[in-house]
Amino acid sequence: MLQFIDDNSGPLQGIPTELFGLDAEGRGKIYKSEVQISSGGSGATVGVMQAAVGVVNNVKDTAGTAVTTGGDGDTGSLNVAASTATDYIQHALTVMDSLADLGKVMPFVAPAFVIIKAIIAVEQRARDVDAKCTDLVQRVTFMLSHLPALKNITVTDSTRQIIDRMNDVLKKSAALIQTYRKQSAIARRLSVHNKDRFASCATSLKDCTNDLMVSLQIHQSAQLDILTRPVPSDPEDEAAEKFVAAHGGLDAVKGSEELVKRFASEMKLSVDEKVMEQLNTNITEVLQQNQDRLEESLNESVSASVIEGIKGLAAQMTESSKEQKFVCVQCGEEYHDSTNGKKSCSFHRARYDSRNKTYACCSTSNPCQAGRHRSEHHCDYVYGNFFDFAGDITGYVDTVDKWTSVEDVNFDTWDKITASVGRLLRWKSRGAIPELPTILVTVGKVSISTPYLFKTFNTYELEVASKVADITHQTVIFRTSRSKEQYAMAEWVLSAEGVITGITITVKASTSSTPFIRFCPINIAAATLSGEVQAISEGGLRSYRPSTPYVLPEVQRVSATLPEKALREVRKDFKTRTSPNLPIVLKVVSDPPLSANSWSSKHDLFSGTISVFNKHPPKSMEPISISSVTAFYRLIGDESYKPAQSIQLEDRIVLPVTIDPRQTWTMKFTVVVPRSEGETNIEMPWQRSSFVARERPLRMKLVLTDVEEEECSLVIDYVSPALEPQKAMPKDIAFFYIDDPHTLGRYGVHVIKGNAMGPLGGQFSLVIGNNTVGQDWMKKTIYKALKLGESEIDTNFGQNNNPGKTNAWSWKCWALIDLSCQRLYAFKILITKDIIGTKGFACLGYVACPELEGVDNETRPIQYATEMTKFPGLEPYAPSLPPLLDDQFDDVVPETPKTAAGAVNSSYGVAGSSTQLTIPEELNQRLTSIDHNLSSIKDSLSRIATSFEQFVETLKSK
Ligand SMILES: [Zn+2]
Ligand SMILES: [Zn+2]
Repeated sequence: MLQFIDDNSGPLQGIPTELFGLDAEGRGKIYKSEVQISSGGSGATVGVMQAAVGVVNNVKDTAGTAVTTGGDGDTGSLNVAASTATDYIQHALTVMDSLADLGKVMPFVAPAFVIIKAIIAVEQRARDVDAKCTDLVQRVTFMLSHLPALKNITVTDSTRQIIDRMNDVLKKSAALIQTYRKQSAIARRLSVHNKDRFASCATSLKDCTNDLMVSLQIHQSAQLDILTRPVPSDPEDEAAEKFVAAHGGLDAVKGSEELVKRFASEMKLSVDEKVMEQLNTNITEVLQQNQDRLEESLNESVSASVIEGIKGLAAQMTESSKEQKFVCVQCGEEYHDSTNGKKSCSFHRARYDSRNKTYACCSTSNPCQAGRHRSEHHCDYVYGNFFDFAGDITGYVDTVDKWTSVEDVNFDTWDKITASVGRLLRWKSRGAIPELPTILVTVGKVSISTPYLFKTFNTYELEVASKVADITHQTVIFRTSRSKEQYAMAEWVLSAEGVITGITITVKASTSSTPFIRFCPINIAAATLSGEVQAISEGGLRSYRPSTPYVLPEVQRVSATLPEKALREVRKDFKTRTSPNLPIVLKVVSDPPLSANSWSSKHDLFSGTISVFNKHPPKSMEPISISSVTAFYRLIGDESYKPAQSIQLEDRIVLPVTIDPRQTWTMKFTVVVPRSEGETNIEMPWQRSSFVARERPLRMKLVLTDVEEEECSLVIDYVSPALEPQKAMPKDIAFFYIDDPHTLGRYGVHVIKGNAMGPLGGQFSLVIGNNTVGQDWMKKTIYKALKLGESEIDTNFGQNNNPGKTNAWSWKCWALIDLSCQRLYAFKILITKDIIGTKGFACLGYVACPELEGVDNETRPIQYATEMTKFPGLEPYAPSLPPLLDDQFDDVVPETPKTAAGAVNSSYGVAGSSTQLTIPEELNQRLTSIDHNLSSIKDSLSRIATSFEQFVETLKSK
């Protein structure tokens, strides 16, 4: 099997395979088939052990050399080192071969084989001998030389644990050697902490080797000095240490190119142009990257061998696939394996942006990437077509049966950290069903700039993954970041028998103290969910149960109260006034008699329709010709009519209009009534009613004149209709407002509980005024409060409406946080208008916030917010005197000329007398109406008395 790993390590794109001495196929260059492989059994153990003894002897030599030569750096010691160099590699190769042999029966030895092979590759390629590397390889070789003893014992769980630990130490050692070897000669020497890293590795190796020997029941105390000796130094290291100490320490040297050059010339080394960069890179990160690549490469190698083990007949497979035609998922071209080379495929990292007509990755039309053609979609690196592939799956509901998904939000950056596991139902909406049962694992979001996993595993691939995980004990499928603060991760969970029994997904934002972890049990043979998903850990921002319910303050208001109905009914009892010479009857046809609008801020428009009836008998042959129409108006309480600004007759009427006897002319009109000086430019929200008449009803008098200058007139009453100011809507959980008597406006803010905002927005949203927020936002607000230690948080919601105008008003909103229970328990909304000193209007209201997700069972005492924003100090609103609703000015009976013609006369007589007779009754009615309308208002009695007195006075004067 290990031979197979060697030969068929699989494609390793994206991995700098040359670092491990592998070619682009992942094929090893260092495996020498002619090297004698032990024949197994106890003989193998003996062989390995002999090799190990040889290692120990060599180590003694090297160590001795290093110590005795000290800082002289003479060529003699280097020669000694050079002669031992090949020996230590040879020993390592011998041990490696014994592992290959062992791996045939114990596959879990494979990782050690792959790693030692990688180490040997690096060392073989190295141009110079380095005491530290030689020492580390010898320690590694010594440790591994004990592994053949595995054959003599029963491998227990604890043995496997030690092997896992051993593999970890091996990976670290390999990464260190590799990183160290990549540094230039000068950087390697000047980075004086390198020695500490080697020392740390040596310590780990010592501990691990000891544990391993105990576990393998080996007692070889005589040779253990290889573990305990100090890590050797090259003379150049010592020179570098002295140089660094003499020139102000490592940081000073790292920052000065001049010092680096001086050291190079002292050491007779040439200065590489990258040396400054190398000196200043974060070695820990590079080490980690190298180790990550090593782990990837290890998984690749092992899965290639497992696939071989499952399929068999690798040679035949290779033969047939050479002839097979594939279509590349990256570029869409057809290709054969035989012609697929390192740079055969050209593609873009990003998708084509049809709007900008470019690729976001490089802004050119020529593909910016080159690689091998690939026949199946993969996450090894980014390519444009993958976004479409993934989008076909994620963009629809019929493609995936999601078993579990987790999400955390970073409240500082709004980054969303996500992961999910589910069954893949289709490759695209309404598309084909996967050939084999398949699961989909996602970690992070498919992106050109951030790490992600979007990977499917069918039952066959799950079987392979299971075997690989059993061998390597590398269970992490993918992790977005090595950071412990913020990451998303998916891991296999193995049974004691080494079979995958589930997947664990974990997400954590750095603003959360604990991660969300879900375990999803799966049956890999059927790719099905095999039990209930378990919540292993709850992350995000947690809230606690409040010990008592929150009690919110009452709404505070200083505001007028707009009338919600008309001041009184419109009067329709006015009669025509005319002279006997002009027998005309005017009647209001429109209902209501007048309708008004205040679209203009300069004047109101009143419209209506009246009928004009010629009362002459039919045979009189006396038409009436109306030559002019004029309009006058007054407000109730005023004692004179003023001419209207203008009157316009509708229907394109041109005066004079002639009306035949007993005929009617229907006159539609619009009268323009100007606003008074102080009233212009006030914005009123009710444009379908009069502004001029907003407080008192209006009377309009239309005067019609015939060609002989005879006049007749009709009075029409106008009362502003009900305003119907905005009210709480059925969906509102709160509505706060103020009423302004000046503009007759109601200015309010609605709070509505809305539906969920998509998959990441939580169960509900709140609409506060014109802002819609989800639970993420609310949790961020709690987070902010906790971070600042403040409990009243300005949400920055609010508006300054219509600034500079008469209907200007403002509102603001704060979130109130219980810092003890970590809850956003209420929002506070303040509405203000026209506040100058202690005058003006305001409303302060509180609305409870619905409970957010993520509440712990722990109960904590509640702690109300410390409110910094208070209700403004305003005088209570004092309404002006109640309006005068009616007067008798238009009620006077016209004098009826006695000389009029019979019919007309009698008609007028009846009308006149009836009007006269009805006065007391109408007065009563109106007084009742006034009384009714004013009954709720304080101080109304005096006003009623006044108006009554005025009434009586006027009556007397007539
Ligand atoms: Zn590109
Ligand atoms: Zn291609």
